[in-house]
Amino acid sequence: MEDEGSAHEALFYVLSYLPLHQLLIMSQVSKSIRDVIRDDILIWLHIVVKNPLSRRLTDDILIQITSKARGRLRTLALLDCVNITDAGILQVVHANRVLNKLYVPGCTRLTPGGIIRAVERLAAQSIVFISLKISGIYNISKEDLFTLQSYVSQSTQKQPIFYHNYWSSSFRSVDEHNSVIDVEICPKCEEVKLVFDCPKESDCRGCLQCITRCIVCGRCISEQDADEQGDTLCNDSVCLDCWLCLPKCNHCNKPFCPRHTHKQLNHHGSEGFVCNVCQAKSLLVYCEE
Ligand SMILES: [Zn+2]
Ligand SMILES: [Zn+2]
Ligand SMILES: [Zn+2]
Ligand SMILES: [Zn+2]
Ligand SMILES: [Zn+2]
Repeated sequence: MEDEGSAHEALFYVLSYLPLHQLLIMSQVSKSIRDVIRDDILIWLHIVVKNPLSRRLTDDILIQITSKARGRLRTLALLDCVNITDAGILQVVHANRVLNKLYVPGCTRLTPGGIIRAVERLAAQSIVFISLKISGIYNISKEDLFTLQSYVSQSTQKQPIFYHNYWSSSFRSVDEHNSVIDVEICPKCEEVKLVFDCPKESDCRGCLQCITRCIVCGRCISEQDADEQGDTLCNDSVCLDCWLCLPKCNHCNKPFCPRHTHKQLNHHGSEGFVCNVCQAKSLLVYCEE
């Protein structure tokens, strides 16, 4: 009986950290898991929606899902949910007074004005600190950022953010990050952007438009010096040192960056792979013969 209890506890622990699409898959595994997922309110206090569900999430579905937390939602992490509007977010914020993590990177239909209204509301209704991720939302002005900063506590010491860590960790999801707002004013172009640090030198900070960085090691790459970077199949920037270490297509000798290795077709471990472009070419040759 004790075993059953701890099994339930372990299952529950796992479920409460799963992104929504995995919860839905899990709920098809067995009736008892389905019941746990449906009835356990604690599972719904931290809602994470990422691909492959992002594009299918609408305001109506969002409101339905978040209502399962019965007003106690704490984390709302919507990654690249391009159909969510200000009205949807505001409705969730109004219904959940203890929400303190609002992560909406890449939710491109949201506006700075909508985010400000949501954060204003959260700040007014809860005393806990609010953490915001809003990179990828269009037209955030410096004034918008100052307004947002006035609502969140700024006491935490800022740690460097490296580009390669940003993509290789799940920083964009619910991982704790030291800054309360992910974007800041780029010291080079003065626009509100994600600003990355350089693992090579301490004064080399800027957004990706201002400083090209290697997606593998995070160091800056000079755009002028073509010798400093290697060609990749996905067009992500990779410095020459890192390029040398990546597995390459057997035909064109170009690698995918680590973020896109899932696109490697015909992967035979150390044997390398053949990229989709080269596969299409060889198919064409085969058809012509
Ligand atoms: Zn910049
Ligand atoms: Zn590198
Ligand atoms: Zn640098
Ligand atoms: Zn190739
Ligand atoms: Zn890539």
